[in-house]
Amino acid sequence: MSEKIITRFAPSPTGNLHIGGARTALFNFLYTKKYGGKFILRIENTDKERSQKEFETNIIGGLDWLGLEYDESYKQSDRGEVYKKYIQKMLDDGKAYEAEDKVIRFRNPNTKIKFNDLIRGEIEFDTSDLEDFVIAKSLEEPLYHLAVVIDDHESRVTHVIRGEDHISNTPRQILIQEAIGAKRPFYVHIPLILAPDRSKLSKRHGAISLLEFKDKGYLSEAVINYLALLGWNPGTDQEIFTMKELIEQFDLSKIQKGGAIFDIKKLDWVNKEHIKRLPPEKQLEILLKSIENESYMTGEPELDVAKISWKKETPENTLKHLEEAAKIIEHGGNLMEYAEKVGKGNVLWPVRYALTGAEASPDPFTILEILGKEKSLKRIQNAIMVLKDAS
Ligand code: GLU
Repeated sequence: MSEKIITRFAPSPTGNLHIGGARTALFNFLYTKKYGGKFILRIENTDKERSQKEFETNIIGGLDWLGLEYDESYKQSDRGEVYKKYIQKMLDDGKAYEAEDKVIRFRNPNTKIKFNDLIRGEIEFDTSDLEDFVIAKSLEEPLYHLAVVIDDHESRVTHVIRGEDHISNTPRQILIQEAIGAKRPFYVHIPLILAPDRSKLSKRHGAISLLEFKDKGYLSEAVINYLALLGWNPGTDQEIFTMKELIEQFDLSKIQKGGAIFDIKKLDWVNKEHIKRLPPEKQLEILLKSIENESYMTGEPELDVAKISWKKETPENTLKHLEEAAKIIEHGGNLMEYAEKVGKGNVLWPVRYALTGAEASPDPFTILEILGKEKSLKRIQNAIMVLKDAS
């Protein structure tokens, strides 16, 4: 029988959960779910100065919103005794030593380390460049590499799936593994996420807290779908996936080597596609939420007379169209039929603008529906008055 797959997502709570971290968590989650394994959340807070509770809360909140449930979780700050035992043993075995400045250094055997990355293939490092690196500041203060290796070993992690920026950490971690007699996991270094111009992803491009996408009204299903496509594809044309489909289709073999481009327009499209698949009442609810703070929802629109008419249409004609539209709305007639007769934009633009006073908003039919007949007619009458006053 093959070994049960165990993965972990190991964020350091030194910042909010952003797109890159969420994608790492998702890939670990999908791989584990696909093969019925175990997914662990490990909070890597050995750096006491930079780790903050607020970031931990943000990370956990982000995972929760995405529905990336873990089977087990722990924090490195709760494991001091475990690390101490290992450090002591390494000292006793001569694998580490206390240096003059009292820090604990690894006794580097200065070998070549070769490992097989499941995405990038064979990678080789000459570890003699690393010298006798520091693994702990004292028995009580393990540093990052040591804690990672001990935890992965004790948790029996089989696959280390993490960002490509960790490739250079791997040789140190393998050296420590060998020193404590730990089994080497499979390494899966996933490609970086880049901005559309292939520069490093920054706040301007969407390297924001994942929860900001929630606040902006994105569906978690859509964000999951989009994250999955950052560096992975199913090998078919399918672009819209449910979580269930992702779990079925995800595989490490289809992860690309090259950087993945973060494109907010694509995310918006994926989000729209997911919204379209929801029941109508749910769609309306989402729409209402997205416009609840717009000025035309909280008060009466203020109209700029120059903006009421569509493109080259004259104010006189616009006046006629609005009067006709008011009649049609009043009697429950077919506004679209009229608009199609005299030019869609000539009618639909002034109606929409009369209702909202906004350059951009949902279409006039949706706004009519939301405002109701009475309010809508009042606003159209107001636009008619503004036009008449200006003539
Ligand atoms: N704590 C590391 C980070 O937040 C990840 C370590 C790992 O996945 O091995 O980047």
